[in-house]
Amino acid sequence: MAKIGFIGLGAMGLPMARNLLARGHHVCGHDASPRAIQAWVDAGGAVAPDLADLVAGADVVITMLPSGPIVLDVFERGIWPYARNGQVFIDCSTSGVPSARRLHVAAAERGHSMLDAPVTGGVAGAEAATLTFMVGGDAKVFESMKDVLSAMGAKLVYTGGPSTGQAVKVCNNMAAGIIKIAISEAFVLARKLGVEDQVLFDVASAGSAQAFALTRTCPVPGLVASSPSSRDYRNGFATSLMLKDMILAQEAAMSAGAPTVLGGAATHLYQLCAGAGLGDLDNGIVYQYLLGQQQG
Ligand code: NAD
Repeated sequence: MAKIGFIGLGAMGLPMARNLLARGHHVCGHDASPRAIQAWVDAGGAVAPDLADLVAGADVVITMLPSGPIVLDVFERGIWPYARNGQVFIDCSTSGVPSARRLHVAAAERGHSMLDAPVTGGVAGAEAATLTFMVGGDAKVFESMKDVLSAMGAKLVYTGGPSTGQAVKVCNNMAAGIIKIAISEAFVLARKLGVEDQVLFDVASAGSAQAFALTRTCPVPGLVASSPSSRDYRNGFATSLMLKDMILAQEAAMSAGAPTVLGGAATHLYQLCAGAGLGDLDNGIVYQYLLGQQQG
């Protein structure tokens, strides 16, 4: 069993670290928030006095932090100075492609093994250990970490070389964000044309507009009981997180010179939703935002 240092015990990190504990790994946790630390201690987790201690005592260091800049800062100030040969560093945060590239370069310069391993599946997937991992980096390092990753996820996809895990993550989420808006626009138009929500749902879910964003996370309340829209857009995938991922995709598209016309438009719409104070609600709230708009 591995000795794991886990940094970032928030909505995702806490259940992921708990699942590592449940599989018999030795997990030492760290978080900037005393409340997050307390929740981890209540779950039976060990805490290191400081990052130096946590890194020194680990075979594997996992980060699950809010953003790329925070991840880079934590590595620069709290991890690299104490890292030693033979350790593996896995960033599971949605950090974006440029941050992942910088991390891999920094790791290679110091002779350390690094994987970028963002996840999809949300808090429910983190709790049930059914996350999907998209893992970029050296294939041998990926193979050696399968046991650790599979304690937290049901599906491990090796995506290729350094930063390709983050690349897949931003491409997937950009498409998901666009599709959610497409479904929302269709329902807003249908309603304005006098069509019942249920009628469009029955046709679209059996036809060419069938999508996860329709049948699983439908943005229209009351059509899919388990969708966040049917519980007042609570406990879903927050609009602010969707916006963060859309912006990461736009940054990646700019650096790669890829055309993302719909990605750009969708980013703007999520920005408007967040600006209207809807950032904490599930991203399906874009449907309600559009419903409240009047076309010129
Ligand atoms: P969160 O805000 O709940 O947790 C982040 C944790 O990091 C917090 O406990 C915070 O105190 C801690 N933290 C922040 N700065 C720190 C620092 N400098 N040092 C130590 N700890 C620090 O976020 P989350 O929902 O757990 O998301 C974590 C990552 O996973 C993000 O990159 C997010 O985009 C990604 N993600 C989230 C979801 C989701 O549904 N929530 C799904 C997939 C991926």
